[in-house]
Amino acid sequence: MALILEKSSRFLLKKIKDLRFLTQKRNRVKEKWAVTRVKYPPSKLALQHFDATYGAQLGQLWPSVRVALLSERKYGALLNNFCHDAAVAEYQTQGCKDFISDGAQEAQPPAEQKPEVGTTEEFSDDSLQEGACLDNQQQVPLKLSPNIKCFVFPRGDVTRFKPARPDRFGLLGYYLMDAASVLPCLALDVQEGHTLLDLCAAPGGKTLALLQTQMIRFLCLNDDSVSRTLRLKKVLGSYVPREFLTDDRLRITSFDGTKWGEIERNTFDRVLVDVPCTTDRHSLMEDDNNIFSKSRTGERRMLPQLQLELLLAGIEAACPGGEILYSTCTLSLHQNLSVVEQAVHVAQEKLGIQLQVVNLRPLTQMFRNTFHFAPNLRLGEMVIPHLAANFGPIYLCKLRRLT
Ligand code: SAM
Repeated sequence: MALILEKSSRFLLKKIKDLRFLTQKRNRVKEKWAVTRVKYPPSKLALQHFDATYGAQLGQLWPSVRVALLSERKYGALLNNFCHDAAVAEYQTQGCKDFISDGAQEAQPPAEQKPEVGTTEEFSDDSLQEGACLDNQQQVPLKLSPNIKCFVFPRGDVTRFKPARPDRFGLLGYYLMDAASVLPCLALDVQEGHTLLDLCAAPGGKTLALLQTQMIRFLCLNDDSVSRTLRLKKVLGSYVPREFLTDDRLRITSFDGTKWGEIERNTFDRVLVDVPCTTDRHSLMEDDNNIFSKSRTGERRMLPQLQLELLLAGIEAACPGGEILYSTCTLSLHQNLSVVEQAVHVAQEKLGIQLQVVNLRPLTQMFRNTFHFAPNLRLGEMVIPHLAANFGPIYLCKLRRLT
């Protein structure tokens, strides 16, 4: 009996040992996996960073902005006037509307106050709200191109657009983008015959919006990333007929935009400087290619300097009287207002260029039913994400060269 017991306990011990061995082996794999797994993925680091900085910056607004940033974003469908497919019309039956013409109509003064024909979309000083911080900003009329159309579903409606279909010429009917990204293009106020530089153009959403105006005499598109420039070319090929993409109308380059001043100064009527930034939404949602990854800390810290250099290059590239639109997709004060303030100062002190900040309050007034704007921003305007209208963040500030 004792022998049987001893044998079975030895057998049991062996089994337990085997099991431990197996478990250990399994654990070893798990441990290894656990060691290689990033404890703090970049998206988590981004959230920690935003909680610390935006919590202080936005105060009571931050919790709701945070929820919106962490929720599914809303898209707009930028209508492609070059396409012969009326795909967006299908969405209109579902309540989808062109927010631009809607906003323009709402901003129309009452019939008895209507200005003369041809100036119906101009704003007057009356549209300014009292108490806004505008002492250093210039109020000027702004004409919106009637050709830029961007469809969105109503507030609170999160219906998604289907991917666009090609028409019989292979051109797509609409481009899906954050509808707030159209605002910098509208604010740029492109007029007939203008020359335009898009300094950081890829992948090309804003370029497409600008091309819809069909008013540009010459468009120069640049992006220092060769791969992204290829993407830009592909986007143009899918949306714009070849006859609009000829050398006498368009130039595409892959230069370092900060050096633009060495190439071409005092040239363009309009310059769009849509800089690389912490792309707040992307940084919270995607770990791939995330600027908050440890390996990109240096790059992230240098962003405001890069943004400043790009904006200064854009200022130099504009002609006297020309206008420059600075934009980002971050809520960061350091990448927005501070960059603009420094650029205005450096342009005056080092380049001898006097600038005027153009007041964009009429634009925000016009689109206040579509977007949530940050209240009383000292310089420029900012769309802040909101669950009922989950667009942005988009910061925009417009400068005019006086000299
Ligand atoms: N405007 C684009 C659009 O609407 O699709 C988005 C531009 S994205 C916010 C910023 C772009 O700046 C990136 O494509 C990046 O490759 C480019 N970029 C970064 N550094 C640059 C530099 N030094 N010169 C020119 N472009 C640069």
